[in-house]
Amino acid sequence: MNGHASRIHFRGVFVNRTLPMESDSNQAARKTLDERNRMSELERLRHSCAHVMATAILRLWPEAQFASGPPVENGFYYDVELDHRITPEDFPKIEEEMKKEIKANHPFEKRVVDRSQALADAQKGRLGALSERSVPSRYKLGNLADIPEGEPISYYQNGDFVDLCAGPHVMRTGNIGAFKLTNVASAYYKGDEKNPQLQRIYGTAFKNKTDLEAYSKMIEEAKRRDHRKIGAEMGLYVIDPEYVGPGLPLWLPKGGAIVEALEDLAKETEFAAGYVRVKTPHLAREKMYQTSGHIPMYLESMFPPLELKENTEAQVAERYYLKAMNCPHHHRIFAAEPRSYRDLPLRLAEYGTCYRYEQSGELFGLMRVRSLNMNDAHIYCTPEQFAQEFNAVNDMYLKYFKIFGIEKYVMRFSTHDPSKLGQKFVNEPELWIKTEKMVKDVLESSGINYIPVPNEAAFYGPKIDVQVWSVIGREFTLATNQVDFAVPRKFGLVYRDQDNTRKTPLCIHRAPLGTHERFIGFLIEHYAGNFPLWLAPEQVRVLTIGEDDSLVNYAKSIVQELRGHMVRAEGDYDGDKINGKVQRAEHSKVHTMLVVGPRDMTANAVSVRVHGKGSLGAKPRTEVVTDILSAIRERRP
Ligand SMILES: [Zn+2]
Ligand SMILES: [Zn+2]
Repeated sequence: MNGHASRIHFRGVFVNRTLPMESDSNQAARKTLDERNRMSELERLRHSCAHVMATAILRLWPEAQFASGPPVENGFYYDVELDHRITPEDFPKIEEEMKKEIKANHPFEKRVVDRSQALADAQKGRLGALSERSVPSRYKLGNLADIPEGEPISYYQNGDFVDLCAGPHVMRTGNIGAFKLTNVASAYYKGDEKNPQLQRIYGTAFKNKTDLEAYSKMIEEAKRRDHRKIGAEMGLYVIDPEYVGPGLPLWLPKGGAIVEALEDLAKETEFAAGYVRVKTPHLAREKMYQTSGHIPMYLESMFPPLELKENTEAQVAERYYLKAMNCPHHHRIFAAEPRSYRDLPLRLAEYGTCYRYEQSGELFGLMRVRSLNMNDAHIYCTPEQFAQEFNAVNDMYLKYFKIFGIEKYVMRFSTHDPSKLGQKFVNEPELWIKTEKMVKDVLESSGINYIPVPNEAAFYGPKIDVQVWSVIGREFTLATNQVDFAVPRKFGLVYRDQDNTRKTPLCIHRAPLGTHERFIGFLIEHYAGNFPLWLAPEQVRVLTIGEDDSLVNYAKSIVQELRGHMVRAEGDYDGDKINGKVQRAEHSKVHTMLVVGPRDMTANAVSVRVHGKGSLGAKPRTEVVTDILSAIRERRP
């Protein structure tokens, strides 16, 4: 179920923006009071800045109708309905008004009101407004209806601006140290496309100018490293909406090379860790996804079914679904043979392709796609084996982080809420407690950097979202691990235990390298396309100084030797000036350039040049080849 439960929150949120904000999903739903109380200082500041922005917009367009304005990763937004189409050209004048409001240093004053008062004020257009107006505050009326009976209703007021809001905020507008409006997008009210489309104005705020400047620099750098831009420049992938379909990336040869290098890494690592590999089809019958719970729970994330009749007499058509997850197929592999405790743990691995029906407005480069190649595996084990297996999974993550130079990460450990058993979470109170404790014990004893997140578990068990930071400090959600104690039972999976009784195994879902799409998207930014040798699409290019026959043959023999060792080596033998050829190779981000001239040939040597590092001088050919091979084998950073 990797990542499945979390993506459901994306449904209906149409977003159009220049950079993906990974955790918008969590903000799409209304925050509970509990979640609000957990808002960090920075989130309070950013949310307060949303109020200040609304104040400013109302000074310019008093008729503006505001909906919701939560903090999001890296900033905040406020959804507004306004005939005037706000564009970045409007930002300076909005920011000017915001500065005045911050300078005025108004306190955020809280007032608890009863529902009838709130309804009356909303009818008078007073909520999300600077004064009473001739039309009701229609979205605030809608928000009011979402507040459960018994939950307190409160206003927050800064200056003349009164908003329906549960808080929390900073003390005064003057506490907002530095801010900036960043982007406009469209969003449906409450994320539902049946509702009106609003303008979503994004901004960010920080305690001080220094932090804001560091953030702006990071965003500039992220734009320079945008995976869509570099992906196109390097020829890694294309999306062909007309013939193939939106969200279905085609890996070009250079992207395919990265895919293969990652799969080799996964296969070696998993093989050494005792995994076995399987291969499964891309679709399965309806019964599979009824049993797994996908059809009841996640149907809207799946592609519509294919229907066919096995023969002309058949009365009913069979329904097949493209797989949204690999787990059910793996469960059937588990069930395919009788299993004994001696067979466990059974670790089934597959780079499986899954298909998810993301709405077209949500698709974003490689980051949100409709076909996903997942570094998947399912570990079936006994409760006694769980700690060791889970630990081994975590170790695998740490090993990968080291290889990719990922220095900052956190594991978000999501647990269940006992009051929502049977609704949001499968109704197995004891198994929840037991499993969560097992996971927590492993996390604590292994000293892994984790944070607990109550009430965010998947339906079938606790989950761990792995968040990593790229080298420029941008956060990505790469993978989800999940402990599943419910679905193996639904599939009737059993093993015969030592005491000869039949027991249901636990299942650990894990995908440390996430999907090729998302992980390569991350790596492109992380390396700015300058991949280490082992990952570089073109690892070596041999360049001749001139096109003399014997020289070309010498160069070709080097290319042949390297290719014989599976090194992605090419040759550039034409008569152009060597500087031009080097420039071309540098531009294509070829990792290692081997320049050969007559003198190199005579000495059986090559002149080495490394992308971004310049010339390393002439070296004996055998030494260079040996070094290239070991750098690749060791996956040197
Ligand atoms: Zn799974
Ligand atoms: Zn507020």
